[in-house]
Amino acid sequence: MADSILPNEIRSVPSVLIRRDLRSVSVQGYARAYRMVIDDVSGKFSRISEHAWQQLHGDRVDPSLSTQAKVADWTCERLESPSNPSKPFNFLAIQIPLGSIDGIARRLAPVSGFLFSPVAILFWMSIIVASIAVLVSRSEAWVASLRLLPVYLRSANAFGIGITFLITKVLHELAHAVMCRRMGAESKSVGVYLFCGVPCPYCDVTDVWRIANPVRRAAVMLAGIYVELIIAASATWVWVLADDPAARMYAMNLILVCGISTVLFNANPLMRYDGYYVLLDAVGSTNLRREAREAFESTIIARIAGKQYQKIRRSDKIAIGLSSYHIASTIYRTTVLFAIAALIVHVANLLHLSVLGIGLVCIVAVRLMAAKTKASISVLQGKGSWMGVSKWRRFAIVSTPAVLLLLILFLPLPRYREVAGIIDAANSSSVFLPPSSQISKIKAEYGDHVAAGDRLALLTDETSRIEITRLEGELRLANMRGELARRDALDRPKVAEQWKTLQAAEESVGALLDKAKKRLAETQVHSPVSGVVIPPQATTPVDEPNQSVWLASFAGTVYDSRQPFCRIATNEERQAMFWLDAKDQRWVTRGTAIRVRIDYGQREWVDTKIESVSQMSEDRTSVTRDAVYRVICPLPTLPHEPLLDSIGRSCVGVVKLPSRSLAADFVNMLSEFVSGG
Ligand SMILES: [Zn+2]
Repeated sequence: MADSILPNEIRSVPSVLIRRDLRSVSVQGYARAYRMVIDDVSGKFSRISEHAWQQLHGDRVDPSLSTQAKVADWTCERLESPSNPSKPFNFLAIQIPLGSIDGIARRLAPVSGFLFSPVAILFWMSIIVASIAVLVSRSEAWVASLRLLPVYLRSANAFGIGITFLITKVLHELAHAVMCRRMGAESKSVGVYLFCGVPCPYCDVTDVWRIANPVRRAAVMLAGIYVELIIAASATWVWVLADDPAARMYAMNLILVCGISTVLFNANPLMRYDGYYVLLDAVGSTNLRREAREAFESTIIARIAGKQYQKIRRSDKIAIGLSSYHIASTIYRTTVLFAIAALIVHVANLLHLSVLGIGLVCIVAVRLMAAKTKASISVLQGKGSWMGVSKWRRFAIVSTPAVLLLLILFLPLPRYREVAGIIDAANSSSVFLPPSSQISKIKAEYGDHVAAGDRLALLTDETSRIEITRLEGELRLANMRGELARRDALDRPKVAEQWKTLQAAEESVGALLDKAKKRLAETQVHSPVSGVVIPPQATTPVDEPNQSVWLASFAGTVYDSRQPFCRIATNEERQAMFWLDAKDQRWVTRGTAIRVRIDYGQREWVDTKIESVSQMSEDRTSVTRDAVYRVICPLPTLPHEPLLDSIGRSCVGVVKLPSRSLAADFVNMLSEFVSGG
């Protein structure tokens, strides 16, 4: 325990009776020798200096040391009270032991040399370093595929992703257990640790404290991270070498789960995972978090609270280091907590389980607030070290963070809505084709300048073709009848009259046939106005991959007359189109200022205003079929790019919404939730 802080006072009390079932091992730490006390009943491990341990077993003992022994449950009297009232059951961090994997670890340990022998470690570490170098050198491609990740996650099997996560974490825990065996200790139970309801496997390797060598202890604690990094490194090479996009996305998923999350959580000493215990061992501490908090109180709080504050003032390097650790870990844990809360609400929303998500987050918030309030009240009441500090000072110290918190909650913060859109021509007229027309020849191409009346395409007219066939048949019949009448007319004058009529009919059919043939040859599509030929609608290649890039590709096809064939842009003006959520209609409407970012190789920001707003329609791309509306805003002339190149180019619009405080955001979210919005 924290023996170094205790003043060496002479007053001592008769020794307490220390439990005989406690096992203890003498450990050589980095700095000094200490004793590791193993409590098999509670499964707890504690560290105490050799000197203090001997004192506990002597006749007289320091009273504070005796109290600490009682708190640690080392004395016989404490053992009789089964529950520890000072530590209520924490349902946000539930540990469920499932059994031991030591049997498997014992069998795997002799054959794990390819991973854990010194030569293997050297080999794999160089692979990991090479993979990191590859990832850094290809960061651009990496970021690009990271953008596609949400698309992949939406389309991928959630079950498969969950299984991947589980398998890698099980391998992580198995690595701890195997390394434990290789180093001569045994792992205890494995199980599931529920942190805010998020399951995560764990492996109890507290037996590691039996190992005298600090490097070997560190090896056990880092084995899990090491194996995950090997998986991430292998995935990196799959990502680099594979052709199949699905395999690449899966590899990316593995890199994120095994590489990034491991470094952010497991290796990070600010979280209470592997990295924390390595640091704890390295600085020879028993409870780094508590010692850091105490150091913070002795260095910073003691200076704010003044001379009457009953805690020893410290300004040594270790105390300053520990205080910095305390501040960093507090900020980090708060950030992670907020991120998890946001994630839970988001995921719950997607699963239509908002009640559960918001409920869980509220419970966490209330618990945290309750703990903070309790601590503040004890400061206000002048309890503990605050006993001598004046009332006003105590009040100021408690109220300052409270006021800051209220400011953060109620200060109106600027809000922005970012929407994706595309660029289109501002002024154009559509060219439609007659129903079921077959295109025989294309006379113009996208980007061509045409004058009003210019030919755009030639059509094969189906009705004229049928008419010609019919007229040709009729003409043949008329010819035949005419021939018969001519032969009869040689001796009968009455028939000669009839023959003349038949000849006239034959001539008129011939004329009709000529006309139909002419019409067939001359079915033309003309441009209604002068301007530039542009595609029928602005679509990005991502929207409709089958959309043709060239008009020429329509030659010989039957065109759907419901769609425009093409459009003629009458001038160079462009506009941006955005689709917004129906909920935004309150803020984003005609006349609202909008900033548009256009990506032309280099990015350009343009300030403009919303010019027109469409009716509500259903978003076909959305799974939940949200109501959307379209807004159009004019863009200034962009001289450095031809109009055709701009059409279908994606852009981003940013609209400033009225400022709102975090508290109002929360209330709004609740009211939306209550009204079922
Ligand atoms: Zn671990």
